[in-house]
Amino acid sequence: MEVFAVQGLPEVRPGDDLAGLIDERADLRPGDVVLVASTVVSKAEDRKADLSAFPAGERARRIASRLETITGDPKDPRFAQAVIEESEELLLEAPFLLAVTRFGHITVNAGIDRSNVPDADLLLLPEDPGASARRLGDRLDVPVIVTDTSGRPFRHGQRGVALGYAGMPASRDWRGERDRDGRELGVTVQSVVDELAGAANLVTGEGGGGTPVAVVRDWSFGDHDGSDELFRDPGKDVVRQALRQWRYTEDSDWSPE
Ligand code: GDP
Ligand code: MN
Ligand code: MN
Repeated sequence: MEVFAVQGLPEVRPGDDLAGLIDERADLRPGDVVLVASTVVSKAEDRKADLSAFPAGERARRIASRLETITGDPKDPRFAQAVIEESEELLLEAPFLLAVTRFGHITVNAGIDRSNVPDADLLLLPEDPGASARRLGDRLDVPVIVTDTSGRPFRHGQRGVALGYAGMPASRDWRGERDRDGRELGVTVQSVVDELAGAANLVTGEGGGGTPVAVVRDWSFGDHDGSDELFRDPGKDVVRQALRQWRYTEDSDWSPE
Protein backbone atom coordinates (compact mmCIF):
# COMPACT_ATOMS: atom_id res chain seq x y z
CA MET A 1 0.00 0.00 0.00
CA GLU A 2 0.97 3.62 -0.36
CA VAL A 3 0.43 6.46 2.13
CA PHE A 4 0.82 10.04 1.04
CA ALA A 5 -0.03 13.46 2.40
CA VAL A 6 -2.39 15.75 0.52
CA GLN A 7 -0.40 18.89 -0.31
CA GLY A 8 -1.49 22.50 -0.46
CA LEU A 9 -4.35 22.68 2.02
CA PRO A 10 -4.87 26.21 3.37
CA GLU A 11 -5.31 27.19 7.01
CA VAL A 12 -8.79 25.79 7.66
CA ARG A 13 -11.41 28.24 8.96
CA PRO A 14 -14.80 27.88 10.61
CA GLY A 15 -17.45 26.97 8.07
CA ASP A 16 -14.95 25.88 5.40
CA ASP A 17 -16.09 23.08 3.12
CA LEU A 18 -13.42 20.62 4.25
CA ALA A 19 -14.61 17.83 1.92
CA GLY A 20 -14.37 20.26 -1.01
CA LEU A 21 -10.88 21.42 0.02
CA ILE A 22 -9.72 17.79 0.16
CA ASP A 23 -11.47 16.71 -3.02
CA GLU A 24 -9.89 19.52 -5.05
CA ARG A 25 -6.39 18.40 -4.08
CA ALA A 26 -6.47 14.65 -3.53
CA ASP A 27 -7.45 13.11 -6.87
CA LEU A 28 -9.14 10.24 -5.03
CA ARG A 29 -9.68 6.79 -6.52
CA PRO A 30 -12.11 4.07 -5.50
CA GLY A 31 -10.51 1.99 -2.74
CA ASP A 32 -8.65 4.94 -1.21
CA VAL A 33 -9.02 5.68 2.50
CA VAL A 34 -8.81 9.33 3.58
CA LEU A 35 -7.40 10.20 7.00
CA VAL A 36 -8.09 13.65 8.36
CA ALA A 37 -6.43 15.13 11.46
CA SER A 38 -9.12 16.11 13.95
CA THR A 39 -7.43 19.51 14.18
CA VAL A 40 -8.77 20.57 10.79
CA VAL A 41 -12.15 18.91 11.34
CA SER A 42 -12.47 20.95 14.54
CA LYS A 43 -11.43 24.15 12.79
CA ALA A 44 -14.02 23.61 10.02
CA GLU A 45 -16.67 22.79 12.63
CA ASP A 46 -15.89 25.97 14.57
CA ARG A 47 -14.56 24.24 17.67
CA LYS A 48 -12.08 27.00 18.46
CA ALA A 49 -12.71 28.52 21.86
CA ASP A 50 -11.31 31.13 24.17
CA LEU A 51 -10.59 30.52 27.82
CA SER A 52 -13.03 33.32 28.67
CA ALA A 53 -15.86 30.97 27.58
CA PHE A 54 -15.03 28.70 30.52
CA PRO A 55 -15.42 30.57 33.80
CA ALA A 56 -13.91 28.26 36.37
CA GLY A 57 -16.12 26.57 38.92
CA GLU A 58 -15.03 25.31 42.27
CA ARG A 59 -13.85 21.91 41.01
CA ALA A 60 -11.76 23.45 38.22
CA ARG A 61 -10.10 25.86 40.66
CA ARG A 62 -9.26 23.03 43.02
CA ILE A 63 -7.84 20.89 40.18
CA ALA A 64 -5.74 23.75 38.76
CA SER A 65 -4.29 24.71 42.10
CA ARG A 66 -3.31 21.13 42.86
CA LEU A 67 -1.70 20.71 39.42
CA GLU A 68 0.20 23.94 40.01
CA THR A 69 1.60 22.55 43.23
CA ILE A 70 2.53 19.22 41.63
CA THR A 71 4.12 20.56 38.45
CA GLY A 72 5.43 23.93 39.67
CA ASP A 73 3.94 25.56 36.55
CA PRO A 74 1.08 28.07 36.47
CA LYS A 75 -2.25 26.43 35.54
CA ASP A 76 -5.28 28.35 34.30
CA PRO A 77 -8.39 27.06 36.10
CA ARG A 78 -10.43 27.95 33.01
CA PHE A 79 -8.50 25.29 31.09
CA ALA A 80 -9.48 22.71 33.71
CA GLN A 81 -13.06 23.95 33.34
CA ALA A 82 -12.92 23.39 29.56
CA VAL A 83 -11.66 19.83 30.11
CA ILE A 84 -14.45 19.16 32.60
CA GLU A 85 -17.08 20.46 30.19
CA GLU A 86 -15.75 18.35 27.30
CA SER A 87 -15.72 15.21 29.43
CA GLU A 88 -18.13 12.63 30.61
CA GLU A 89 -15.80 11.63 33.41
CA LEU A 90 -12.33 12.49 34.72
CA LEU A 91 -10.46 9.27 35.44
CA LEU A 92 -7.54 11.23 36.91
CA GLU A 93 -7.44 14.77 38.27
CA ALA A 94 -3.75 14.52 39.15
CA PRO A 95 -0.92 14.47 38.19
CA PHE A 96 -2.66 15.28 34.88
CA LEU A 97 -6.23 15.33 33.64
CA LEU A 98 -7.23 12.02 32.07
CA ALA A 99 -10.67 12.40 30.59
CA VAL A 100 -13.34 10.26 29.00
CA THR A 101 -14.64 12.49 26.20
CA ARG A 102 -18.36 12.71 25.50
CA PHE A 103 -17.91 10.42 22.49
CA GLY A 104 -15.98 7.78 24.45
CA HIS A 105 -12.29 8.38 23.70
CA ILE A 106 -10.00 8.45 26.75
CA THR A 107 -7.19 10.99 26.52
CA VAL A 108 -5.22 13.62 28.42
CA ASN A 109 -6.99 17.01 28.69
CA ALA A 110 -9.97 15.68 26.67
CA GLY A 111 -7.81 16.16 23.57
CA ILE A 112 -7.99 19.94 23.81
CA ASP A 113 -5.16 21.35 21.71
CA ARG A 114 -3.17 24.51 22.16
CA SER A 115 -0.82 23.97 19.20
CA ASN A 116 -1.56 24.76 15.53
CA VAL A 117 -4.49 27.02 16.60
CA PRO A 118 -4.24 30.61 15.36
CA ASP A 119 -6.59 33.33 16.75
CA ALA A 120 -7.94 31.33 19.68
CA ASP A 121 -6.74 29.93 22.98
CA LEU A 122 -8.05 26.41 22.48
CA LEU A 123 -9.21 23.90 19.92
CA LEU A 124 -11.74 21.36 21.20
CA LEU A 125 -12.06 17.93 19.57
CA PRO A 126 -14.98 17.49 17.16
CA GLU A 127 -18.20 16.87 19.07
CA ASP A 128 -18.84 13.56 17.31
CA PRO A 129 -15.89 12.47 15.16
CA GLY A 130 -17.86 9.48 13.82
CA ALA A 131 -20.53 11.83 12.49
CA SER A 132 -17.81 14.10 11.06
CA ALA A 133 -16.27 11.11 9.27
CA ARG A 134 -19.68 10.13 7.88
CA ARG A 135 -20.30 13.63 6.53
CA LEU A 136 -16.88 13.75 4.87
CA GLY A 137 -17.23 10.19 3.56
CA ASP A 138 -20.63 10.94 2.00
CA ARG A 139 -19.06 13.76 0.02
CA LEU A 140 -15.79 12.04 -0.90
CA ASP A 141 -17.30 8.64 -1.57
CA VAL A 142 -14.47 6.75 0.16
CA PRO A 143 -13.94 5.59 3.75
CA VAL A 144 -12.81 8.39 6.07
CA ILE A 145 -11.00 8.22 9.41
CA VAL A 146 -10.76 11.23 11.74
CA THR A 147 -7.50 10.98 13.70
CA ASP A 148 -5.72 12.54 16.62
CA THR A 149 -2.22 12.29 18.00
CA SER A 150 -2.67 10.68 21.37
CA GLY A 151 -0.57 9.35 24.21
CA ARG A 152 -1.15 5.82 25.39
CA PRO A 153 -0.66 3.95 28.62
CA PHE A 154 2.28 1.56 29.07
CA ARG A 155 4.33 2.94 26.18
CA HIS A 156 6.43 6.02 25.71
CA GLY A 157 5.42 8.58 23.09
CA GLN A 158 2.33 9.55 21.18
CA ARG A 159 0.85 8.08 18.01
CA GLY A 160 -2.05 8.54 15.63
CA VAL A 161 -5.34 7.00 16.69
CA ALA A 162 -8.79 6.94 15.13
CA LEU A 163 -11.42 9.07 16.89
CA GLY A 164 -14.16 8.22 14.42
CA TYR A 165 -14.51 6.50 11.08
CA ALA A 166 -17.03 5.79 8.35
CA GLY A 167 -17.33 3.57 5.31
CA MET A 168 -15.35 0.65 6.71
CA PRO A 169 -15.30 -1.50 9.85
CA ALA A 170 -13.11 -0.45 12.78
CA SER A 171 -11.44 -3.83 13.09
CA ARG A 172 -10.55 -7.00 11.27
CA ASP A 173 -11.83 -9.88 13.30
CA TRP A 174 -9.41 -12.77 12.92
CA ARG A 175 -11.18 -14.93 15.45
CA GLY A 176 -12.06 -18.30 13.98
CA GLU A 177 -9.28 -18.02 11.37
CA ARG A 178 -6.23 -20.29 11.62
CA ASP A 179 -2.57 -19.64 12.44
CA ARG A 180 0.37 -21.28 10.60
CA ASP A 181 -0.06 -24.47 12.55
CA GLY A 182 -3.77 -24.64 11.98
CA ARG A 183 -4.68 -23.52 15.49
CA GLU A 184 -7.78 -21.38 15.68
CA LEU A 185 -7.23 -17.73 16.67
CA GLY A 186 -9.29 -16.96 19.73
CA VAL A 187 -8.77 -13.28 20.57
CA THR A 188 -7.20 -11.35 17.70
CA VAL A 189 -9.30 -8.35 16.69
CA GLN A 190 -7.01 -5.99 14.79
CA SER A 191 -7.88 -2.32 15.07
CA VAL A 192 -7.22 -1.40 11.46
CA VAL A 193 -8.54 2.15 11.83
CA ASP A 194 -5.89 2.80 14.51
CA GLU A 195 -3.20 1.16 12.41
CA LEU A 196 -4.11 3.30 9.39
CA ALA A 197 -4.23 6.36 11.66
CA GLY A 198 -0.70 5.55 12.86
CA ALA A 199 0.52 5.26 9.27
CA ALA A 200 -1.13 8.57 8.34
CA ASN A 201 0.40 10.33 11.33
CA LEU A 202 3.85 9.44 9.99
CA VAL A 203 3.27 11.56 6.90
CA THR A 204 1.15 14.38 8.35
CA GLY A 205 3.69 15.30 11.04
CA GLU A 206 3.07 17.33 14.17
CA GLY A 207 4.66 20.73 13.80
CA GLY A 208 4.15 23.55 11.35
CA GLY A 209 4.46 21.26 8.32
CA GLY A 210 0.86 21.74 7.32
CA THR A 211 -0.26 18.39 5.96
CA PRO A 212 -3.35 17.38 7.98
CA VAL A 213 -4.81 14.95 5.42
CA ALA A 214 -3.35 11.65 4.20
CA VAL A 215 -4.52 9.12 1.67
CA VAL A 216 -3.95 5.37 1.93
CA ARG A 217 -4.01 3.74 -1.50
CA ASP A 218 -3.97 0.08 -2.55
CA TRP A 219 -4.80 -1.22 0.89
CA SER A 220 -7.67 -3.61 1.33
CA PHE A 221 -9.61 -4.82 4.32
CA GLY A 222 -9.51 -8.33 2.88
CA ASP A 223 -11.81 -11.24 3.41
CA HIS A 224 -12.36 -11.03 7.15
CA ASP A 225 -15.21 -10.40 9.50
CA GLY A 226 -15.46 -6.77 10.60
CA SER A 227 -16.19 -5.30 13.98
CA ASP A 228 -17.48 -1.84 14.72
CA GLU A 229 -16.29 -1.51 18.30
CA LEU A 230 -13.67 1.17 18.78
CA PHE A 231 -13.78 1.92 22.51
CA ARG A 232 -13.91 -0.76 25.16
CA ASP A 233 -17.17 -1.39 26.94
CA PRO A 234 -16.66 0.51 30.26
CA GLY A 235 -18.13 -2.41 32.21
CA LYS A 236 -15.38 -4.72 30.91
CA ASP A 237 -12.53 -2.21 30.98
CA VAL A 238 -10.53 -3.24 34.04
CA VAL A 239 -7.81 -0.63 33.48
CA ARG A 240 -10.41 2.16 33.53
CA GLN A 241 -11.92 0.67 36.68
CA ALA A 242 -8.51 0.46 38.34
CA LEU A 243 -7.75 4.10 37.47
CA ARG A 244 -10.97 5.26 39.09
CA GLN A 245 -9.69 3.89 42.35
CA TRP A 246 -6.09 5.09 42.10
CA ARG A 247 -5.10 8.35 43.82
CA TYR A 248 -1.99 10.41 43.18
CA THR A 249 -0.09 11.12 46.35
CA GLU A 250 2.55 13.75 46.84
CA ASP A 251 5.25 11.11 47.36
CA SER A 252 4.52 9.39 44.01
CA ASP A 253 7.66 9.58 41.93
CA TRP A 254 6.18 11.44 38.96
CA SER A 255 7.36 14.31 36.78
CA PRO A 256 6.11 15.59 33.41
CA GLU A 257 7.82 13.81 30.49
P1 GDP B 1 -3.94 16.48 15.55
O1 GDP B 1 -2.97 15.35 15.63
O2 GDP B 1 -5.28 16.09 14.98
O3 GDP B 1 -4.07 17.23 16.84
O4 GDP B 1 -3.35 17.53 14.47
P2 GDP B 1 -1.99 18.36 14.54
O5 GDP B 1 -2.18 19.63 15.30
O6 GDP B 1 -0.87 17.46 14.92
O7 GDP B 1 -1.87 18.73 13.02
C1 GDP B 1 -1.55 17.76 12.03
C2 GDP B 1 -0.79 18.43 10.89
O8 GDP B 1 -1.68 19.35 10.23
C3 GDP B 1 0.41 19.26 11.32
O9 GDP B 1 1.42 19.03 10.38
C4 GDP B 1 -0.07 20.72 11.25
O10 GDP B 1 0.96 21.57 10.87
C5 GDP B 1 -1.12 20.65 10.17
N1 GDP B 1 -2.23 21.60 10.30
C6 GDP B 1 -2.95 21.89 11.42
N2 GDP B 1 -3.93 22.75 11.13
C7 GDP B 1 -3.84 23.02 9.80
C8 GDP B 1 -4.59 23.84 8.88
O11 GDP B 1 -5.58 24.51 9.24
N3 GDP B 1 -4.20 23.81 7.58
C9 GDP B 1 -3.14 23.08 7.14
N4 GDP B 1 -2.83 23.12 5.83
N5 GDP B 1 -2.41 22.32 7.97
C10 GDP B 1 -2.76 22.27 9.28
MN1 MN C 1 -4.79 16.85 18.73
MN1 MN D 1 -0.95 15.48 15.53
